[in-house]
Amino acid sequence: MIEVAESLNAESKSMLGTEAIGFEHTTEFNTVITNKGKFKARKTIFCGGLQADRLAKKDGVKIKEKVVGFRGDYYELTEQAKHKVKNLIYPVPNPEFPFLGVHFTRMTDGEIECGPNAVFTFKREGYGKTDFSLRDTASALSYGGTWKLFFKNMSFGVKEYRRAFSKKLFLKTLQELIPSLTMDDIKPGRAGVRALLLGADGDTRDDFRIEYAQNSIHVLNAPSPAATAALAIGDEIREMAEKHFNLK
Ligand SMILES: Cc1cc2nc3c(=O)[nH]c(=O)nc-3n(C[C@H](O)[C@H](O)[C@H](O)COP(=O)(O)OP(=O)(O)OC[C@H]3O[C@@H](n4cnc5c(N)ncnc54)[C@H](O)[C@@H]3O)c2cc1C
Repeated sequence: MIEVAESLNAESKSMLGTEAIGFEHTTEFNTVITNKGKFKARKTIFCGGLQADRLAKKDGVKIKEKVVGFRGDYYELTEQAKHKVKNLIYPVPNPEFPFLGVHFTRMTDGEIECGPNAVFTFKREGYGKTDFSLRDTASALSYGGTWKLFFKNMSFGVKEYRRAFSKKLFLKTLQELIPSLTMDDIKPGRAGVRALLLGADGDTRDDFRIEYAQNSIHVLNAPSPAATAALAIGDEIREMAEKHFNLK
């Protein structure tokens, strides 16, 4: 993937394991301060996912909302059950919730993922069930929007937490799509964390949100299907950059 991206432009470079920790601005340059040194750029585009709001604030963008993380745990079908899913099995989404609900996805490596659930995470990049970060938890719980979200969705949240720790309850939800599924048909899989932009009113912002500052563009909210729509979002950002930065 990185080779493909770099081959499109000989001057491009990908730097893994490099954390942007601060910014300096002059009228001509943005300086990105990282754990591996400083980098100067005339224009910068930020796609920071779970850290998007913090990066935007550090870059001087005024943003009222906050990013909160919702972990999604997956199970996988065991060998004996793989014949039960030939393609994709998806539910009809409930527009009340920002989450689709559990579904069955045939992956390119032949595995079949089932899930995810949706539980509030106490660490933004917390992929384990008991992961905790004091900074992230304090930041989320000192924000009124988080409490409003909790109170509005109390029974949904409690159910999701119980399912996170109970294979039996997880199976019950999966059985709504495949009634013949048994405990032996599923085994624990991986987990992901969704970044949701949460308003002070307790509502998650469900649409894409891209803002620009003087010399930078920030992708503040790119909820699913942002991965599927990545190329189209890239085009949108390019158009914004051309227009806003007079690049044409
Ligand atoms: C469980 C789950 C299932 C999903 N299913 C689907 C699906 O079926 N279809 C779909 O379209 N989408 C799906 N999504 C959503 C999709 O993954 C996201 O919408 C998409 O990844 C958002 O892209 P992004 O670039 O905004 O953020 P990310 O993909 O999270 O990328 C952000 C990047 O910024 C980096 N970063 C953060 N802070 C810093 C910093 N300070 N310095 C340097 N780098 C930094 C991170 O390491 C990361 O690499 C799913 C997400 C989850 C969690």
